[in-house]
Amino acid sequence: MHRGMAVLVATPRLRGPSLEVLATMTSHVPGYVRLCETGELARRAEAAWELLRGCTVCPQNCPRDRTRGLTGACHSGTEIIVGSWNAHFREEPPITGTRGAGTVFFGGCQARCSYCQNFWLSQLGHGIRIGPERLADMMLSLQRRGCHNIDLVTPTHFVPQILKALVIAAEKGLRIPLVYNCAGYEHVHTLRLLDGVVDIYLPDAKYASNKEALRTSKMHHYVEFNRATLIEMYRQVGGLVLDDDGIAVRGLIVRHLVMPNSHAGTREVLRWMAENLGSDIGVSVMDQYFPAYKAHNDPELSRRLTWHEYREALDAVEDLPFEHLFLQEDLSELDQTADI
Ligand code: SF4
Repeated sequence: MHRGMAVLVATPRLRGPSLEVLATMTSHVPGYVRLCETGELARRAEAAWELLRGCTVCPQNCPRDRTRGLTGACHSGTEIIVGSWNAHFREEPPITGTRGAGTVFFGGCQARCSYCQNFWLSQLGHGIRIGPERLADMMLSLQRRGCHNIDLVTPTHFVPQILKALVIAAEKGLRIPLVYNCAGYEHVHTLRLLDGVVDIYLPDAKYASNKEALRTSKMHHYVEFNRATLIEMYRQVGGLVLDDDGIAVRGLIVRHLVMPNSHAGTREVLRWMAENLGSDIGVSVMDQYFPAYKAHNDPELSRRLTWHEYREALDAVEDLPFEHLFLQEDLSELDQTADI
């Protein structure tokens, strides 16, 4: 039986939050607020900035000094690239809630996924270039709209800049939880700078095979880095914690995108998570793969999932002891006739 499901929530008319809603939004004080008050958040931002020199922000370890205008595999220097910022209603239900996730989509990416659905943003350089002050203003505008959280999408290569922006935003009154929504390919030393800063981690567990990760996403040693990432994130925030309205206030939700021809190694990814992380984490098993960008030219990845493939993934995860599952139960868009 499904213990949860990802549903698409109809977009409500957006209004500013009522006084009652504002009281709820501020009843859980995110960790970054306290760290800002003690000066620790500013110290973390300074320490993170040092990682940009001969960049070791992420496991790509590009030998480029981004503080001098050079860029690495993520095509990013010191300027922040933002594709959009808005209330978003297609995340998992505890992230979306009723008023939406306050999503900031960053441009550039540490990975090179051949099937990326946002390739125009992640790989083609689209987006506006801004500084930390403007990013702080975006966060505050999302809070004013009543969003449940600040949902940072593809944030890894901008951790130093995000920390700087967060200092400014917290001083100006930002009080909603911070979601770190990433590919799950992180350096533990960078994550340690986010300890007590991030409330909710929303990473991917993309692959069970380094060979496939390298071939289709250009990430080396993905499996080892991903597993170290998930363990560190779980150490920091623990299992998923919801408020009385079912909205996430803290914890870890791991996403896994099921891919055609067992490309992602779904069973092995899920089994490792069950054996090495707590059953109290959230697990989101996604069926929305389609062959975007360059995947049309890859015989293994040039089609959507079949119904059988997603059903097999559901069988695998439902046999495991996870308490919070987010699954797609409407399989009508998948091919129900094709064999695997
Ligand atoms: S953040 Fe960008 S420049 Fe730095 S190591 Fe990663 S890909 Fe390279």
